[in-house]
Amino acid sequence: MKNMSVYNFAAGPAMLPASVINQIKSDLPSFNDSGMSVMEISHRSDLFEKIINEAKTNLLELLNLSDDYEVLFLQGGATTQFAAIPMNIAKTKHIGLVDTGHWSIRAQEEAKRAGIKVDTIASSKTDQYHNIPNVKQPQQDLDYIHLTTNNTIEGTAYNKLPNLTTPLVLDVSSNFLAQSYQFKNVDVIYGGAQKNIGIAGLTIVAVRKDLITENDLPGMWNFQILSKKNSMLNTPPVFAIYTANLVLKWLKNLGGVAEIEKRNRQKSGLLYDFLDNSKLFNNPVKKDSRSLTNIVFSTGNDELDNKFIEQAKENNLVNLKGHRLVGGMRASLYNAMPYEGAEALVDFLEKFERDNWR
Ligand code: PLP
Repeated sequence: MKNMSVYNFAAGPAMLPASVINQIKSDLPSFNDSGMSVMEISHRSDLFEKIINEAKTNLLELLNLSDDYEVLFLQGGATTQFAAIPMNIAKTKHIGLVDTGHWSIRAQEEAKRAGIKVDTIASSKTDQYHNIPNVKQPQQDLDYIHLTTNNTIEGTAYNKLPNLTTPLVLDVSSNFLAQSYQFKNVDVIYGGAQKNIGIAGLTIVAVRKDLITENDLPGMWNFQILSKKNSMLNTPPVFAIYTANLVLKWLKNLGGVAEIEKRNRQKSGLLYDFLDNSKLFNNPVKKDSRSLTNIVFSTGNDELDNKFIEQAKENNLVNLKGHRLVGGMRASLYNAMPYEGAEALVDFLEKFERDNWR
């Protein structure tokens, strides 16, 4: 039996809203009186068709996008899209990249593997990625500029998108529907579902319809074929799409992205305020570049960090270990994390500081 007082700060797969878990439980024996659980229904059934179409509409509504955008529900993670997106829409095979750390570099590597020329047009590497770089309009002709809105490992984020004449392609994996952006001149918005929109196994791609054109890519990579098949060229991840739709409905009922952003700012604000005043813990990120969803911190002492992670776990605050590339701690405060979770973490940080500061 799950202990309900456990707060899971994992970077993904991550927490689901409690009401979504309850809905899943109640749907399990018989989904919509079908006599079958949702894990057993056919993707060709009317039951599933209704789910996938609803999820599409809900996503566009929450992102405030018109139906000029197609929504694809795919597999293979954001990692597959690092190559699939340029293969589909980079007509001159030449793109720009904003280098904000690990995941942006992975996007660059995969695009290059797919034969795409990638120019880094801005980078915060020399600042150890502790801030996000200012992006200026590049002079060269580029199909688009790839930008990671939230950097899961480094704990940085764009609060506002750069206003450029070259279109943007956005990896929103770790702040998908967690804060609002003005999606102006944006070709693609994409990310995995496993942080803010449900469970692992589903990747969501919102792509401008006029960019979906005839090409000779294999089916599973081909946006035109996938779009014509309503994301069902093969068997889609039925359970993950069903869960995503529950999460999208939950978010709509809550008041949408503006409301969740307010809550996310309260949660992260509580933690950042503590860190700003702490003698023991430090957050290295420049204030205007702080992520709302992934907050990195450390004591600067590996032994003490490990002691913190262990003791936090004993206090039901789990998965606080930082990514192996940066060490220290990371608290992921995605949409499903309640305010009480952030409060419990800060209470524990205060106690740990009292006990360990000399
Ligand atoms: N982009 C960002 C910003 C991420 O945080 C991650 C994973 O954590 C990825 C891409 C890779 O996503 P996936 O595991 O869905 O391929």
